[in-house]
Amino acid sequence: MPGTMGEQKGLKNRGYSAADMEERRAAAEEFTGASLDTIAKCGLDPETASKNIENMIGTVQIPLGYAGPVRISGGEANGEFLVPLATTEGALVASISRGMSVMNDGGGVRARVLSDAMTRAPVLRVDGIDHACRVMEWIDSNMDAIEAAVAETTSHGKLIRIDKYPAGRSLYLRCAYSTGDAMGMNMATIATEAVCRLIEKETGAVMVSVSGNMCSDKKPAAINMINGRGKTVVAEATIPKEVVEKRLHATSAAIAETNYRKNLLGSSLAGTLGANAHAANMVAALFIATGQDPAQVVGGSMAVTTCEDVDGDLYISVRMPTVEVGTVGGGTRLPCQREALQMIGCLGEGKARKLAEIVAATVLAGELSTLAAQAAGQLGAAHAALGR
Ligand code: NAP
Repeated sequence: MPGTMGEQKGLKNRGYSAADMEERRAAAEEFTGASLDTIAKCGLDPETASKNIENMIGTVQIPLGYAGPVRISGGEANGEFLVPLATTEGALVASISRGMSVMNDGGGVRARVLSDAMTRAPVLRVDGIDHACRVMEWIDSNMDAIEAAVAETTSHGKLIRIDKYPAGRSLYLRCAYSTGDAMGMNMATIATEAVCRLIEKETGAVMVSVSGNMCSDKKPAAINMINGRGKTVVAEATIPKEVVEKRLHATSAAIAETNYRKNLLGSSLAGTLGANAHAANMVAALFIATGQDPAQVVGGSMAVTTCEDVDGDLYISVRMPTVEVGTVGGGTRLPCQREALQMIGCLGEGKARKLAEIVAATVLAGELSTLAAQAAGQLGAAHAALGR
């Protein structure tokens, strides 16, 4: 029978060894009454995961498959990629693979990272607008000192700019950093704290929170849609008329109309941030496979998909303003995730932008396949055949 908190001393074990994990899991089984035999079959050394989780009791398994290969010519991603995807949604991987294969028949995907900056926006308490103006003037006149404070905390992170938003007795400072190959959220947070301590000392403003929500992390936000956060990426493909009709059983005009009425007009009526069919599906599966922060699927979900019928050929693109990815740090330290990153040549230094282009190409494939299935009236049948 489930116990009450405190009866199982193993629940208080905060250690990171295999024995600690075992003791904790046994206590959790006793407390909850659940058998955790499968969760216990853990190939992950808890010490390896010590920077990624507390109170570890095992692992959950998520099926991993691949889509592709997909041919990409990007700023950084060039070649054919077999893309690892972790999901429990039947039909997803098959659909993305179909989209990739069709795009390959049309010559592949073109992709580019347009901008790259991670943001953290603290909120400071000021006395009023005069004080806010003095603080902003001090910041503008002392950027060298502020950059030096950042450099004390990180060697890879560099401050790019500080955007300022005063509101009453609050002052929001949206600090944007280049973060090398790290997604950069820890890096930007630590650096921003150092920036705020300097501003507090010099101006009398008081940091209330290092994150005043104008960052905006893990929440859908127009500021990220417009200004971007992490990597802003575009991907596009042109698929010849014959390929569209033979492989997708629809016309370019029908797919473009579906995109207009569904993704553009429907999303506008619903007030969504972003206008796409299911970008979050591809982002989530790729993020989970490669050790990205799954909560940042929120940013990745704000893609805008465009389709045009160009003399019978289909032009399709995605614009993704907020692709928050890294190839060092965070979950990319874990062994399975490292192997998945290796599948696409994206492990380690110099690979973060390449990964962002592969994310956008994968989203494009999923958008194409789903839009085409809906234009051809096939979506329900595909899910019935593959998903259940
Ligand atoms: P991180 O793992 O905290 O930091 C990256 C580290 O890698 C830094 O110490 C950096 O060194 C080092 N590094 C080595 N080679 C690098 C290279 N080529 N490029 C960049 N850095 C390099 O990773 P993070 O990306 O900053 O943060 C990711 C983690 O933050 C994830 O686990 C995520 O879940 C979590 N997260 C945190 C917050 C938060 O508010 N703190 C919010 C959301 C997510 P230097 O800095 O010394 O240069």
